[in-house]
Amino acid sequence: MNIEIPDYVQNLITELEENDYEAYVVGGAIRSALLHVEIHDYDLTTNALPQEMKQVFQKYRTIETGIQHGTLTVVSDHNPVEITTYRTDKSYLDHRHPDAVTFTRSLEEDCKRRDFTINALCYNKKTGLKDFFHGLDDLQNKTLRCIGDPDKRFDEDALRILRALRFAARLNFTIEENTAQAIHKNKALLDVISKERIHEELNGLLQAHDIKDTFLNYKDVFAQIIPAIKEYTPEQYAAAVEDMQKAETISNVRMALFLQFLSDPRSVLHDLKYSNADTKTILILLKTKNASVQSKAEMKYFLKDYEPWMDDILAYHKAKGENTTRWKTYIKEIKDKQEPYTLKQLAVTGKDLKQIGLKGKEIKETLDSLLQKVIEEKIPNTKEALLQNLKSIQ
Ligand code: ATP
Ligand code: MG
Repeated sequence: MNIEIPDYVQNLITELEENDYEAYVVGGAIRSALLHVEIHDYDLTTNALPQEMKQVFQKYRTIETGIQHGTLTVVSDHNPVEITTYRTDKSYLDHRHPDAVTFTRSLEEDCKRRDFTINALCYNKKTGLKDFFHGLDDLQNKTLRCIGDPDKRFDEDALRILRALRFAARLNFTIEENTAQAIHKNKALLDVISKERIHEELNGLLQAHDIKDTFLNYKDVFAQIIPAIKEYTPEQYAAAVEDMQKAETISNVRMALFLQFLSDPRSVLHDLKYSNADTKTILILLKTKNASVQSKAEMKYFLKDYEPWMDDILAYHKAKGENTTRWKTYIKEIKDKQEPYTLKQLAVTGKDLKQIGLKGKEIKETLDSLLQKVIEEKIPNTKEALLQNLKSIQ
């Protein structure tokens, strides 16, 4: 088996090998290479101890952020590459972080600590593929399986539960039976995982193409991380999931659809540490979920308030099975003809109104009322027409 390794990565492996160490590409890169999907980063694993790595990479720029866990980041041809010493992780008292890591010279030991068989495939040019746990078979059979006893593995680190759901959904894999059972059994341990990490995994999961089976089969896990969804009737839950599946892979739109029947979606987002921007987007999607836009003028008012979120709003409505063609036609026409719908686009400014003697609050009110007339096409958007209109009122 031959896997192509880019030069900037191969050079690092060669450096280590020339110093009598061994090094392999491991994890996501090998998984992706074998699945013929895009590789986004290369992680290396080596029997060199951290201090030995530092010695080998003296001439390189290195970053030591993870050094106590054995990870040195080496910058190779401008690309940062994480290289980690083979290690075993000792007892996880907090269900998340190993209490101690012990370095080892055995690649197999290092692979044992990894989460899933498909994430423990190692490769280098010299030795070829190392596959201690039949990861290749699982890849071929589209199976996600824990290494070792799944019950123990989720107990050690409960975040693996969400990683399992994310990988299975993203890769369209089936979770092997014992692994699946252990997920259900250990889900309560997710309570000790930081909300940031839960949010991150959930977001990754929401970007999978097919999420329906995951959300239907692991409803109990989602109720564990978002207890508010226990409010849902089984029909509401199924309907929300059905809509999410239709929303393609836009995670904010999918999250809004997931929360669509809740009385207090804001507190869910707050609890999961959603950013202000994402919270705003999701709440706007829910606020506008029943909006009906019946004319081009109504669309202009809508754009005035919600333009930055328009793509997401359209995606939300489309997922709900609504016909968004008319909305899109209005938008296209407004844009093509550059028809104004914001104060900024109005042919008069506050300054113009000041010049003709308006003051303070009057200015904003007058601008708003002029914009309204322009939106409704009662007057054209030219300076003369607008000023003329003011004169005729006064
Ligand atoms: P991707 O980066 O595409 O999400 P990946 O497999 O590279 O996938 P990372 O989170 O980057 O995943 O981790 C790299 C490797 O480290 C994994 O492939 C796995 O072998 C191991 N690993 C990561 N997190 C855990 C964990 N929580 N428990 C056990 N092993 C883990
Ligand atoms: Mg990775």
